[in-house]
Amino acid sequence: MGRAVKTEAVVLRSMRYGEADRILHLYTPARGRVGAIAKGVRRARSRFGGRLEPFFRLRIELHEGRGELLTVTGAQTVDAYARLREDARALDAAARACDAVGRLFETSEPHPGVFNLLCRKLALLDERGGRAVDGRSGALAFRLKLLLAAGLAPQLGACAACGEREHLVGFSGAAGGVVCAACEAGSFALGEHAYRFMTDAFGAPLHEAPEAPEAALAQVERAISATLEHHANLRLMPASGRSARAAVS
Ligand SMILES: [Zn+2]
Repeated sequence: MGRAVKTEAVVLRSMRYGEADRILHLYTPARGRVGAIAKGVRRARSRFGGRLEPFFRLRIELHEGRGELLTVTGAQTVDAYARLREDARALDAAARACDAVGRLFETSEPHPGVFNLLCRKLALLDERGGRAVDGRSGALAFRLKLLLAAGLAPQLGACAACGEREHLVGFSGAAGGVVCAACEAGSFALGEHAYRFMTDAFGAPLHEAPEAPEAALAQVERAISATLEHHANLRLMPASGRSARAAVS
């Protein structure tokens, strides 16, 4: 007969399915990413209202049967992040954050820290909605924290190839972190600002994400991409859209 599951969840994606249904990608604290179907949700009188939309934080009830998808049987709103929805840049940033979580943590392995991080990110975008303070730097700081949670944090303290602590001039996804001048073959340059941004972002809470010049942020984004490509065989969307970049430069 299957069983009932009650959990908090953030809606990462919501796709139309059939005449009136939706397929949802949910991120939960204890069950990682969960796929679910909400039946009849697109009918005008659906009891779920509009709350099975992306970025809603919900207290959700699911029925787990034999199929791969769980069935949504109830949902209450914990936070709708309503202000976020009124700002195109905040919406774009929220979509990229949810996409990154969904790709990096696509299994049922539990990462409650990632759930909390995502909720904090959405709350921050909600709080700052109309003001363009969460651009590329905020998105990259968030991604660095996701790398840490996934066990993919690049080595920053010493050369990832030989252990040298001085003259760290490049970054190599294959080596798994910064590399020294002697080991820089196959790496790309990582400057002082980019290096400091990465070490600071790991240490700082999300709402105190460091800032760095645009060229340094480009290096940070490249370092994150190289790490993900080499160690998780994964590509993410660009960390921020054109409008968001223009807004912070
Ligand atoms: Zn080295």
